[in-house]
Amino acid sequence: MEEDITKKIYIVGAGLAGLSAAINAKERGFSVNVFESTSFAGGRCRSFPDNKMGIEIDNGNHIVLSANENFYELCRLINSQNTIKTLNPSFNFFDIKKKKFWSLDLSNRAIIKLIFNKNKRIPGSTIKDYLTFLKFFIVNKNDKVSELTRKSNIYKSFWEPFTLGIMNTSPEEASAKILSNVLKKTLFKGEKFCHIYQPKINWNKTLIEPSLNFLNNKKTRIKFNYTLKKIVIENKKIASLIFDKKVCEINPGDHVIFALPLTGFGKFFPEYQIPSKFNTILNIHYKLPESILKLFKKEIIGLINSLSHWIFVKDKHISVTVSDANNLQQIPSDEIAKLVWNEICVFLDKKILLKEFRVIKEKKATYTQSPENNFLIKKISKLPTNLSLAGDWTQNDLPCTIEGSILSGKKAVELLKF
Ligand SMILES: Cc1cc2nc3c(=O)[nH]c(=O)nc-3n(C[C@H](O)[C@H](O)[C@H](O)COP(=O)(O)OP(=O)(O)OC[C@H]3O[C@@H](n4cnc5c(N)ncnc54)[C@H](O)[C@@H]3O)c2cc1C
Repeated sequence: MEEDITKKIYIVGAGLAGLSAAINAKERGFSVNVFESTSFAGGRCRSFPDNKMGIEIDNGNHIVLSANENFYELCRLINSQNTIKTLNPSFNFFDIKKKKFWSLDLSNRAIIKLIFNKNKRIPGSTIKDYLTFLKFFIVNKNDKVSELTRKSNIYKSFWEPFTLGIMNTSPEEASAKILSNVLKKTLFKGEKFCHIYQPKINWNKTLIEPSLNFLNNKKTRIKFNYTLKKIVIENKKIASLIFDKKVCEINPGDHVIFALPLTGFGKFFPEYQIPSKFNTILNIHYKLPESILKLFKKEIIGLINSLSHWIFVKDKHISVTVSDANNLQQIPSDEIAKLVWNEICVFLDKKILLKEFRVIKEKKATYTQSPENNFLIKKISKLPTNLSLAGDWTQNDLPCTIEGSILSGKKAVELLKF
């Protein structure tokens, strides 16, 4: 498409929301300028070399499900579908206390078996426990996940790990409305929507590098190390963006998209009360020899009754995720790595010496996705007329995810009135 140089779009933030906005804007032929405060793109979804271990790692283990159509559409646009592998819709668990394995198969036939064959069910559950799912067809906007699920025998083995995995928020705090929307897009729709997407190598190779290549090919280079410091608003429009290195005057026909994290948005619009509670995600990466890696058998393993939540088995390392980990923020990294490693040894039923590891603490991985915080976000309105918002937190009633951020960037462009 020929570029419409009369209409400039200024995008602030080059995480997935900003990249998605930039790519969609280029697809529509707009002239695009992207500014990013750090020296890299990807924000909370990035990969980097760990020089000590000599391997490349992701900051976090991101799970994407086949229901996430905006994710897949972006991969098609940037030609990275071949970098994705699709895993069966089956989740494998190990209970650290009971030393028991089980798996939850979400394929269509397996779900029927799950209900009618007690050997296929989650250990300790009865048919009655699966009726809890029906409560999620209609939920109240104030409901919390635990209020609907607490009495179920699969609270610890299903509702807790899934709520933490999807919303990085404990069921006691998590909005049932958000989880209900996820269930309606995945489990309730059937097997086709529950396959697990993982990058063959890492998220950089699947999402970030191909996005940058796409933009470079369209002659759009991101301006890295440009931090937005101030905005000037005149006549209900952003008149200028003041970066540490440059001032951008915004002409009457131009448009601005903020693809900032929630805290970043809050700095420029202090009149809005934004959620103050955020949840940490910890990832502990352990470099391991092939002889130990092959003991894991499955690529993704959920742990129950443990500090660790998920083990991801990669080519040269394993990576363990602990969600909603604010209580571990102050614990030294070495200590966390040892605690988690002890659980890995229980899982493998083998005492193995802890060697090379790296702990990544993402302190503000997501805001606490509670009904109260969701209401605060919904109250944000009356923005300058030439400003749109993107970012995982802007998608009301959806969790803060890769899908949400990609969708938000796309929607910010689709809604442009010019
Ligand atoms: C450890 C971890 C695990 C996760 N697991 C999953 C998962 O399993 N599945 C899933 O789907 N999602 C997961 N997520 C969530 C997912 O990573 C995020 O929802 C998504 O990356 C957010 O993208 P974004 O573009 O909205 O925000 P960000 O990635 O935060 O991007 C915002 C960008 O704006 C830049 N910026 C900030 N302030 C300024 C400024 N003043 N001027 C210029 N630039 C600025 C930032 O540097 C950043 O690059 C996880 C997140 C983390 C941290």
